[in-house]
This record gives sequence, C-alpha cells and structure tokens, in this order.
Amino acid sequence: MTGFSEFSRRSLDDREGFWSEQARLIDWKTPPVQVLDYSNPPFARWFVGGTTNLCHNAVDRHLKDRADQAALIFVSTETNEETTYTFRQLHAEVQRMAAALKDLGVQKGDRVLIYMPMIAEAAFAMLACTRIGALHSVVFGGFASVSLASRIDDATPKVIVSADAGSRSGKVVEYKPLLDAAIDLANHKPTAVLLVDRKLAAMKIVAGRDQLWGDLRQKHLNSTVECEWVDATHPSYTLYTSGTTGKPKGVQRDTGGYAVALAASMKHIFCAPLQGASGPAGETYFCTSDIGWVVGHSYIIYGPLIAGMATIMYEGLPTRPDAGVWWSLVEKYKVTVMFSAPTAVRVLKKQDPAFLKKYDLSSLRALFLAGEPLDEPTARWISESLGVPIIDNYWQTESGWPILTIANGVEKAPSKFGSPGVPMYGYDVKLIDENTGDELEGPDQKGVVAIEGPMPPGFMQTVWRDDARFVSTYWKSIPGKLVYNTFDWGVRDKDGYFFILGRTDDVINVAGHRLGTREIEESISSHPNVAEVAVVGVADALKGQVAMAFVVPKNAAVVADAAGALKLEGEIMKQVDGQLGAVARPARVRFVTVLPKTRSGKLLRRAIQAVCEGRDAGDLTTIEDPTALQQIRDVVAR
Ligand code: ATP
Ligand code: MG
Repeated sequence: MTGFSEFSRRSLDDREGFWSEQARLIDWKTPPVQVLDYSNPPFARWFVGGTTNLCHNAVDRHLKDRADQAALIFVSTETNEETTYTFRQLHAEVQRMAAALKDLGVQKGDRVLIYMPMIAEAAFAMLACTRIGALHSVVFGGFASVSLASRIDDATPKVIVSADAGSRSGKVVEYKPLLDAAIDLANHKPTAVLLVDRKLAAMKIVAGRDQLWGDLRQKHLNSTVECEWVDATHPSYTLYTSGTTGKPKGVQRDTGGYAVALAASMKHIFCAPLQGASGPAGETYFCTSDIGWVVGHSYIIYGPLIAGMATIMYEGLPTRPDAGVWWSLVEKYKVTVMFSAPTAVRVLKKQDPAFLKKYDLSSLRALFLAGEPLDEPTARWISESLGVPIIDNYWQTESGWPILTIANGVEKAPSKFGSPGVPMYGYDVKLIDENTGDELEGPDQKGVVAIEGPMPPGFMQTVWRDDARFVSTYWKSIPGKLVYNTFDWGVRDKDGYFFILGRTDDVINVAGHRLGTREIEESISSHPNVAEVAVVGVADALKGQVAMAFVVPKNAAVVADAAGALKLEGEIMKQVDGQLGAVARPARVRFVTVLPKTRSGKLLRRAIQAVCEGRDAGDLTTIEDPTALQQIRDVVAR
C-alpha cells in the first residue's frame, strides 16, 4: 500500500485517532473532549467540548512569531490600490471592525450579512464576525437586489456591511442603491448598515440606520476586542450554493471542524510550509476567486492565514491592464501557491501567450483549479505554459475543502488530465447505481458520486435553519441508503482516479445509452477551433433524448457564413463519432459567442436545456450575462 492510501485508510478506519492528530494543527482554548459525535446521523459533530476561535487561528496566534510579516495583500487594478497589511496591522483592523459591529449591537450568534466588493474591509468584516462569535453570511457582490433580498430574508442579519461601490473593468458598479432596494424588498430589516465609503459613488445615507466605517473606525482606533472562545460546533458562517441547479441552499459551517479541515488541507494538499504557531518566513498564496464563494472563504481568507501565509485579495479582471497582471503579482509577491478556476484560464488562453513568459514565475510551485470541469486542452495549455503541476480539485460549497484531488503533501502522485484526482482523507467516496442504490466497485463503471457518512470536519453541518431540508435533499435521494448525494455523475479508473462526467441531471439517455454531457463536451473541446462548449440533453420523441451542443469557436470568422458553420459542425460530429461513438454524436452543433453561466462561471445547462425544449428558463438571478441565453434562443429558433 502506498503512503497516501495508508493515510487515507486510517482517516476512515480510525477517524477519531486521525482527526485528533490533525486537530493539533490549530490552537484550542480548551481541547476537545470527544473527537466525533455521530449519535444522530447524518449530523456529525466534530471536536465536541473543545473551544476555539477561527479569527484567533487566522490572526492572533501569528503575532508571536510573525507580527510584521505580510498577512493580507490587497490589490485592485480597478482603483490602482495596493496595500499590504502585516499580521499586526490586520489584527488592529479586525479589532476595530469587531468593536464597530459590537457597537451596532452584534452579539454572539447574530448574523452579519456582508455584501461587498473585493476590498480589504470585507476580510476585516469576516474575521471580525468570527472573532466575536457572530456568523457572517457573505453574498457575492455581483448579485442584484432580488437575489440579495432573498438571502437577507433567509439569514435575517442584525447588521449588513457593504460599500458605496465596486468596480468592474474600470466602470463603477454602485452597491448602495442595490442594497437599499434589496432591504426594501426584504421582509427582514437589519438594525444597522455599516458602509465603507470608497469615494467611488455618492451615497444616500438613511438616517438612524446607515453608519460609515470611516467614522466608527476612527472611534475605535485603539479598541481591543478579545476573541470570543466558542464551542467547536458553534456555527461560523452561512453561505449559499451557486444556484446552478435551482434554489440556493444555505450551507451552515461549524468552527472547530472547519479550522482543523483547513489547516490540514493547507499542509497535505496545498503543501504550505508552516504549521502551528511558529516557523520560518511565510509564503504568499494567491487565490483568484471571490469572497462571495466558498473557495474565497476557505482559500482567500481562512486557509492561508491559518497557515501563516500572506494572502492576496485581488479586485479586477485577469486581463486588465493586460493579460499578464496575475503573473506580475506572482513575480512581485513571490507567490508559491495559486488557486483559480478553469473559466479564468480559458479567458487567458484566448490572449497572447507571451504574457506568460514575461514574468519570473519561478516561485510558483503549483496551480490549483476548481469549480467546474477542467477540460484537457485547457489543462494542457496552462500546464505547458507555466511548467508547474496543475492540480484540479473537486468540491462543493457543502464540503468547504476538496473532496477529490491529489494530496502531494502526503505523498507525491501524478495528476491525470481530465481527473480531479482521488478521494481525500476523511471522505468515504462511493459510486452508486442511482436506481438500485448498489455500490459500483469495479473500474470504469459510471454512477452517482456519493459519500458515506460521517462527513469529515469542515463539511456543512446542516442547511441553515432547515435540518429537514439537509436530510431530505442530500441524504434521502438514493434508495435504501443514508448516503450523501453529490448530484454529480462520475467514473473511477483502475488506479482509483475519479472523473466527473456532469451533474446527475445532466446525464442524458440516448436510445437507452447513458451519457454524461461532460464526456461529450470533453471530446468536442479537443477540436482545435473550439474555445468553449456546452452540451445538453433535449427531449426527442424517437430517441428519448438527443445531445445538443453549443460551441463558442476560437475563430468566429470560420462560422460567419452558413457553409463555414456547417463544415465545422460536420468536423465536430466526426470527432465525437471517432472518440465516443455515433450514439454520443450531438444532433446539432450550434455556434454562439458566449455561453450562459452563473456569476461564478458555471454553465447553466438547465437553463439552456429549458430553452431548447421551449420551456421557461427558470430562476436566472445568478446569470452572468442574460444576452447569452437570448443567443441560445435565437440559434435554436433558426
Ligand atoms: P447548486 O448546488 O445551488 O445548484 P452549484 O452546485 O453550482 O449550485 P457549488 O457548490 O458552487 O454550487 O458547486 C459545486 C459543483 O461544482 C460540484 O457539485 C460540481 O458539479 C462542480 N465542480 C466543482 N469542482 C469541480 C471539478 N474540479 N470538476 C468538475 N466539477 C466540479
Ligand atoms: Mg450543488
């Protein structure tokens, strides 16, 4: 048995022993009495009896050894700001914010909704919440009033922290009017709104409710606020899933389990050099996600800081002022670990590759990508361009940290293109036949990716204020078994590597053959003139379903006329025939300039499918560019 499989086996055979060792990676006020309480499945309670604090582990405990090292590096290519906060400075800012929140009445257990652009104050606010035992509920700054209002009603925050505006591609995006409209729409009203004034847009202040961070910061310049020691099982935050498949779920996370899971992942997966409170100089972690997503929570804010690393918080596009901007930051801050998404890499892939050669990237050890399937051409391109391992990792808002990846910190193992890797320690991942509930043990059998409980530390505790929804949504969908359904469809090869084939509701059934849309997309995207592709199953009287492909060509000129489009369509079909067989061949390949995606870059396949079948596209509040769906409507109608 190899090192990783031994490690992993122990994590399941001796969960308590394994995780009590990992628990030493963080500071506890009082150590846990019981490592795991699974007396009420599927609810797992980790580190029962222990008390700790997330903010302490991210900030305070580093003051002893690295107070003057960089902790938070805020870079905005929108406003041309660049500020580094040392651990000491971050500690001071977080205490000011914590004092301000307390001033506004926030107490342990209260919710604070954070609706902010990617600015340092957003990090202060998150850390300030966990410092005082309040729960943050960050709502992605790109959402408009309706999405925001529904989250205000679900989280019922005492205070909302926001800002005058964000900026995107040099254009000011006002937040305050959207927030005011959302509060009007919502049934629940916060008692106060704390506003960061970036001086990007004028704000209409609501007297008695709105407060300026500048004023409260001044008032609390020298305030000290001690960390509130909370039970390990005390919730640290709630966060909504992306809403790719329907109504977003309010994921609730604990404190102790999350801190341990992140610390362990920093060591075993991201190979951070530092553990515990002391150690040599820190390194820099650059995660390009947004604090509005789980990746941002775990790997912009808490994970790197818990490990004593500096973390870069970046506001801006990957292509402004030019497509070299991220690499310039890697050079300047000697970034060792970078984390991004396939979507972003595909954006860069369309730019001049010379930008990748312009900077000294020798500090970089690996690039991690997550959030959606990483297609092989994109993976190869970025891997060859950077010359460092590209490590895909599969997870969900629900999990808080990777479910499938490669743990190079335990034992070096190769990545396989197209596979996010193997199950991480603590996750008992299974493939299940969704009709019979039987486990598929052999290689190359397709099934639902499911996880046997208890879930490891860091995993969601429940759906916020809805235990019944947690159980019925995730744990009751496979016949005869209490197992967690990821709603993703996958296959495992003989070496134990998993391949994600799409969401379970994206599996299509063509004349009795079950095909993952992902497999067809993978085949199509290997065509040299395909930049992006979405495949959906569409109802068909004869075959049950047929696959429809929507392609963004690399060179749009090729499909400018009908003959060109027909030629490329033919080539693509031939390619699918050759690679997967005629049954997988899409009925039609249509060309568009942009695909409908959520604000987090995930394809809205369900909406595309609805449009193809002439149905209503459903809830589109999370869509990035509504014109994309119109294009689908237009090409389908043709
Ligand atoms: P909702 O659950 O509200 O419909 P969502 O599932 O898109 O939204 P997230 O939790 O942000 O919300 O996304 C998790 C999903 O993203 C996974 O279930 C999977 O479908 C996809 N995913 C994430 N990482 C990967 C990856 N590395 N490879 C393939 N798919 C991935
Ligand atoms: Mg999901």
